[in-house]
Amino acid sequence: MNKWLLILLWVAGMTMAQATTLEHYQPYLQPGFDKPRLQLADIEPLIKQYASDPAVTVTELGRSVENRPIYLLKLGQGKKRVLAWSQMHGDEHTATAALFDLLRYTLAPEQQAWREQWFSEITLYLVPMLNPDGAARNSRVNAQGIDINRDALALQSPEGRLLMQLARQIQPDYGFNLHDQNRFHAAGEAPNPATISLLAPAYNAARDINDSRRRAMQLIAHIKPWLDTQIPDHLGRYNDTWSPRSFGDTFAGMGISTVLVEAGGHRADDNRQVARRLNFQLYVAWLNAIASGSYRAAPLSDYEAIPFNRSGGLKDLILKNLQVRVADTDAVLDIGVNFHTEGDSYARIHELGDLSGYGAYHLFDVTGLRYQQGRAYPLSEPLLLDDQRYQQLLRQGYTHFSGDAKLLQRQTRLPVLVNPLRPTQSAPQLRQGATFLLLNSQGEVVQVLLNGQLLHLANLELKNPLGT
Ligand SMILES: [Zn+2]
Repeated sequence: MNKWLLILLWVAGMTMAQATTLEHYQPYLQPGFDKPRLQLADIEPLIKQYASDPAVTVTELGRSVENRPIYLLKLGQGKKRVLAWSQMHGDEHTATAALFDLLRYTLAPEQQAWREQWFSEITLYLVPMLNPDGAARNSRVNAQGIDINRDALALQSPEGRLLMQLARQIQPDYGFNLHDQNRFHAAGEAPNPATISLLAPAYNAARDINDSRRRAMQLIAHIKPWLDTQIPDHLGRYNDTWSPRSFGDTFAGMGISTVLVEAGGHRADDNRQVARRLNFQLYVAWLNAIASGSYRAAPLSDYEAIPFNRSGGLKDLILKNLQVRVADTDAVLDIGVNFHTEGDSYARIHELGDLSGYGAYHLFDVTGLRYQQGRAYPLSEPLLLDDQRYQQLLRQGYTHFSGDAKLLQRQTRLPVLVNPLRPTQSAPQLRQGATFLLLNSQGEVVQVLLNGQLLHLANLELKNPLGT
């Protein structure tokens, strides 16, 4: 190989390496977006701000069912057209945050050279928050109850119609279809959450590969080695069954090289900030790759090497080797617990028995401890519940309260259950609330599982609190 070409490649490699460090991106994260939900009111002031930046053209794409504005932001003037849309499912906001990180990064004065480089090659169309009504009520569907991502054919929702009209009008070469997936997807056989899942969706039932789909696969293959360094064994491939009602699959059929990005869970990361930062970096990497065309050298084998997601391969909590007594017989088993974030938000026992094939966000070996049903403390007079009083009650075997909740004055940071829907039983049962006592061999209560959170009674340490 030519010596100068080698030096050039080395310098390009260095630049890539520097530009992919966390420190490089951290300062550009949009402040205030590390939270469990994002709604229109969170992004609208920023959009209005960007409207006065000469580098951004902001228009109102249209209105949602409930008359909320849906915005379109346009950057660059290149021939290659890229359309990215987020939050078509109202309760999936991770990528919306990442799109605003990208905007902040792109428009920073020190990024001028980089910006001009891709602005001359690419026109980028962003629709952050396609489903503001769903975002307002934290629901997947729109105000009509329609899953917009199953509406690509019938176009019964105004939001779906707007996205399709936009795609027909601008005829993008590339589409970034940005979602969140449930946190129970494992990255292949690994006992880890799929923090990022990617897919080049099929355009027919045979899952054929034409040039358009090959490009999408290569965009994914191009960044796979880098993602492996960032989240080893936390990368998955989303189910590639052809789903013609979905926008990704329909757009793929229209010749748009579409990439599905699913932001997933990560340990000790309630608001999916790991997936958010990776999304942001992926967008930058893809803009570079599309501008230069470099991704076309990526081998499809790197795409094929990404393991398919294992649905349900993760649980929120696993307790291993718990002693239980069922029908006068002792046994040792594992207990898997999942939180239900929709509806009543109770943690429930999800599976019993050998859970060695599963991963968990929190896993504790409780060898030597025995399951015991908790008792209900009847509320018949006012009770001041501070940590000390709660500790006493738990030692006496009370895990929850029954009666008039107004009599309970909570002065504790610990989870408190009043009149739980599915109280514990004498032995662990599937779908029962995940609240019970753990006793040592002397019969003393040493730990308590309180709505899926493990509490050490000696020091009231709540081990790895779950959820938000
Ligand atoms: Zn989604």
